[in-house]
Order: sequence, then structure tokens, then C-alpha cells
Amino acid sequence: MTLDLRVWQGDITTLPLDAIVNAANPSLLGGGGVDGAIHRAAGPELKLYCAGLGGCETGQAKLSPGFGLPSQYVIHTVGPVWHGGGQGEAEALASCYRQSLLLADAEGIVSLAFPAISCGVYGYPADQASKVAVAALRQAFEECHLSKQVWLVGFDEAQCRLWQQALAI
Ligand code: ADP
Repeated sequence: MTLDLRVWQGDITTLPLDAIVNAANPSLLGGGGVDGAIHRAAGPELKLYCAGLGGCETGQAKLSPGFGLPSQYVIHTVGPVWHGGGQGEAEALASCYRQSLLLADAEGIVSLAFPAISCGVYGYPADQASKVAVAALRQAFEECHLSKQVWLVGFDEAQCRLWQQALAI
């Protein structure tokens, strides 16, 4: 049983893995940023399917097929909006990574990719978020039953550097 954490730069929608994780909004009906890119690449079937999931609370995760994506599944998780750090943002963000990894494990998913959840429109400082993410993944993996290959995706080089720094801790 191993947890293999890797950093990858680019568009998460192009990755042919068991699953990619979506930084969704609570409606699960699509939005901007990585959410918009995933819905565009998956096609309209994704929105129809997600409409039947009944939304998702912050820190929770739900599964859908990947439809037109090269990935088999999408794990939709809702990150916290950054309000300065005093409103449970770190706990909520850790819960996103934890619940997504545990959901993946329950579905037999081995390879999956995460974007930098909450680090775009939701305003979470990316250096702090990257550290929370890596710590939460390492901790949650203790409860997994299958090995995992996890791609930490940075859309740009700066985010990839932050992922590398977080992995070095
Ligand atoms: P949130 O609302 O959770 O902040 P965003 O989609 O605005 O979500 O941003 C989350 C992160 O995803 C940001 O670091 C952003 O640069 C990145 N991102 C946006 N589009 C893509 C994509 N196609 N592939 C990978 N990462 C992306």
C-alpha cells in the first residue's frame, strides 16, 4: 500500500485517470474556473447527472461519471470561500481532500488528480492551501484500502512550485 503524490502542470481535464476532482460550487451545476472547464469537456450529460445529486455541502464530496472526459469519474467537492482564515476554512479544505480520497477508495479508484481547491475565485491563499491539502491527503490515506497515485495539478508554474514546497515538508 503506497501513496504516490506527484505534481503536474496543465489542464486537469486532459488527464486520463480513474478520476479527476472538481472544485465545484454547492449547486454542482457548473461555474467558472476548473468547474467550467470540466463541464465543458465532459459535455451536457454531466450537468444533467449532477442535477440529480442534490447539491453538495462545503467539505463534502460526490461522485459522477466522467462522460466525455478521458477520466472515468469526476469527484465533485466544494471548497470553502476564504474569509480570512478564522471561519473554519482550513478544516473545511482538509475535509475536501479527505472526503474525496475516501470516496475514491470506496469506489476502487486508484489514480486521481486534484486541482488547487479554493485557490481561484474562492480566494484561499495558495501557499497555505497546498500545505493543508498535502497533510490532509497523507492523513486520510491511513484509512484507505487501496494504493493511490495522486496528481496535484497546478494550472501555472507558481502553483506547481507551491505543491512541491508542500510535499517537501
Ligand atoms: P475555487 O472556486 O475553488 O477557487 P477555481 O476553479 O476558481 O476554484 O480555482 C481553483 C484552481 O484551479 C486555481 O488554482 C485555478 O488556477 C485552477 N484551474 C482553473 N482551471 C483549471 C484547469 N482547467 N485545470 C487545472 N486547474 C485549473
